[in-house]
Amino acid sequence: MMVSGPVRTAPGDQGYDKDMLADTMSTTISEDHRLLINAVRDYARGELLQLDAKWDREESSCCERLDQLYEMGLMGLRVPEDHGGLACPMLPYAHIIRELAYASPAVAVSVSVHTMVCEAVKMFAQDAVRDQLQQQLATPDNLSAFAVSEPDVGSDPAAVKTRAEKVPDGWKLHGSKFWVTNGLTGRWFSVLARAGDTGGNKDLSMLLLDARQDAVERRPIHGKMGIRGSETGEMNLDGAFVPAEHMLGEPGDGLKITLSALDGGRIGIASQAVGIGQACLDLMVSYAKERHQFGQPIADFQAIQWMIADSKTDLDASQLLIDQAALAKDSGRPFTCEASLAKLFASEAANRIAYRAVQVHGGSGYINECRVEQLYRDARITTIYEGTSEIQRHVIAREMLKDA
Ligand SMILES: Cc1cc2nc3c(=O)[nH]c(=O)nc-3n(C[C@H](O)[C@H](O)[C@H](O)COP(=O)(O)OP(=O)(O)OC[C@H]3O[C@@H](n4cnc5c(N)ncnc54)[C@H](O)[C@@H]3O)c2cc1C
Repeated sequence: MMVSGPVRTAPGDQGYDKDMLADTMSTTISEDHRLLINAVRDYARGELLQLDAKWDREESSCCERLDQLYEMGLMGLRVPEDHGGLACPMLPYAHIIRELAYASPAVAVSVSVHTMVCEAVKMFAQDAVRDQLQQQLATPDNLSAFAVSEPDVGSDPAAVKTRAEKVPDGWKLHGSKFWVTNGLTGRWFSVLARAGDTGGNKDLSMLLLDARQDAVERRPIHGKMGIRGSETGEMNLDGAFVPAEHMLGEPGDGLKITLSALDGGRIGIASQAVGIGQACLDLMVSYAKERHQFGQPIADFQAIQWMIADSKTDLDASQLLIDQAALAKDSGRPFTCEASLAKLFASEAANRIAYRAVQVHGGSGYINECRVEQLYRDARITTIYEGTSEIQRHVIAREMLKDA
């Protein structure tokens, strides 16, 4: 069968500012951060795009490129400058995740999850170790992961069963964690565990585990539909030791820290979704111009134009919601609702756009040589992790009813 249409290559360069969408908010990005976003864009499209297809095909880990990401400072984006990071505000950070996701949704989620843990350490680590941990997290071989989910625990993190047993000088962890992004190469794991036995939320604590010990056993989870280059692992903790000073916050703060970390993480996942959506839209536009049927480019058909128009509308609305959430976080305002609005809309929008991208490509879009086939599968996870769409609606409604 002849397969026509764009394959796994970068679409025509449109220039960052043309993609920049709603400039009312985005103009608050400094010149330095615009340069950084452009550098990430060039790097991602030049270096990661082709690799991403290989990682997907082979189901191999995108962590093979971690050294480059550390070199560019992308693993310390939100770490303060005096601890070796870039101290990037949330707004440009979101645009950086979007640029990474455009070329590699797998790399984008790896950076986003690591950043979420960096943020939790910055906000909640004990004074005695905070500076040193932040410095370490921005240094190679210190990838981090967020280990909340368990085989029987997903949307309801308060139900975790992993136990933290008090021992002299610290804690020993017993239990299993599941679905851990960065779970194989990662060194530092933010583990939600039950340290008390009242059965309530105050039993939950967050412990920063160094996984380099025998009591930690890790295995890859294979067979994912999408983001196949992203490492997903399961881990058994058989008495793994965490020193007392590596508890984040106070005993009993575990759920609060989980929800706080997820608020920031959701801006990252929304941005991942916009990156996927933008890549789909660019491919849709270039294919519509080059594919001819009935003696004319399919771009001349109104049905195709409407799919392009609806996708552009979805993308701009998504980016505005992300910018709103990121600006709220940057200004120190509560942003739980804004983050859920962005995550809900952008992830659902990315799926709509990916669907349209396959449709515009016709049969060519159904073949794995065509980039949109992978993006369609990659988009699917964005409505599931870091809170499903149903959970985002629950958060938004709860915030609305609370305000009323
Ligand atoms: C590739 C991948 C990577 C992941 N990475 C991580 C990670 O790094 N760290 C981590 O801790 N977890 C991670 N997860 C887990 C992810 O966060 C969960 O899959 C997600 O939160 C949903 O949980 P669940 O799969 O157990 O579904 P469930 O919670 O069992 O939900 C099943 C269905 O029921 C619905 N539902 C549940 N509760 C309600 C409710 N109250 N109201 C309405 N509907 C509801 C859900 O929306 C969903 O449709 C990852 C998952 C995947 C697939």
